[in-house]
Amino acid sequence: MNTICQSCSMKMGKDDYGHNSDGSRNTDYCKYCFPNGNFGKDEAMEEMIESCIPFWVEDGECKTPEEARERMRKLFPTLKRWHNLPSGAEES
Ligand SMILES: [Zn+2]
Repeated sequence: MNTICQSCSMKMGKDDYGHNSDGSRNTDYCKYCFPNGNFGKDEAMEEMIESCIPFWVEDGECKTPEEARERMRKLFPTLKRWHNLPSGAEES
């Protein structure tokens, strides 16, 4: 079972899991990314990284936004949501 969201990398407790369209728990993604059988927001990996930076800094996970961005750029491509990007998309 995944303990971090496979979209935004948030650490999840049992109350943080997302939900499938039938109401069952989705343990891959958090409730913010995957509230109701779909990703709440259709966004690119870079956009997700930018929106997560303040949380990482706030959590004390990283000291600066630059450090957070750097670490997420390494981490996010290993997450399930971003792992199998269609060829040609978001790759550089
Ligand atoms: Zn998430």
